[in-house]
Amino acid sequence: MYGKRRLSHLPFFETVQEILSHYSCPSTCPAICCKVADINLDENDIKLLRQTSKDEADKIESWYEDGERHYKMCPPCPFLEFDKCSVYDSRPTLCRMFPFNISTMPDVLILFPCDMGATIFEDYVEYSDNILKRPVPAKTIDAFEQSHCSFEIKLNKDLPIPMLVIKIDDLITFEEYLKSKYV
Ligand code: SF4
Ligand code: SF4
Repeated sequence: MYGKRRLSHLPFFETVQEILSHYSCPSTCPAICCKVADINLDENDIKLLRQTSKDEADKIESWYEDGERHYKMCPPCPFLEFDKCSVYDSRPTLCRMFPFNISTMPDVLILFPCDMGATIFEDYVEYSDNILKRPVPAKTIDAFEQSHCSFEIKLNKDLPIPMLVIKIDDLITFEEYLKSKYV
């Protein structure tokens, strides 16, 4: 598992940023990702936030564990104002990755079925068919689509949400595929 201090140095972070550059969040989404889960931060995230927000210390929880200081923000995120991020340019690493998230397994990433995640998923299914020649199973497609329809409800009720698991190796070729698709 990635140490919390290393969040800003995840090896696939840039690839995720390239992928996300092809998408945007619909204006109708009420910033679900900022309201439902803890956001872990590392020292670099804190440093960046301090440049923007003078009262960041009041908004972030910190504690010591195994000799290390850990940080998190609890939902709804204290930096969310009228469903907009008030520290957008300084937002933490995990916020910059959503709807992707890290997993307990270091060689995969998770894709959440929010509105943007559903659009990425459509492209991923197409890429799996055309490039990997390894179609996403119909069962996985059904589960993801159902999760998308009930995403906010399930998150609010703390119910399990089926998500797509993507191998890091596939993520890199997926990014190349998107580059050629969205030239
Ligand atoms: S990343 Fe997903 S949940 Fe977050 S604002 Fe965009 S569409 Fe909404
Ligand atoms: S820092 Fe900004 S993007 Fe991250 S959870 Fe808070 S409001 Fe959302």
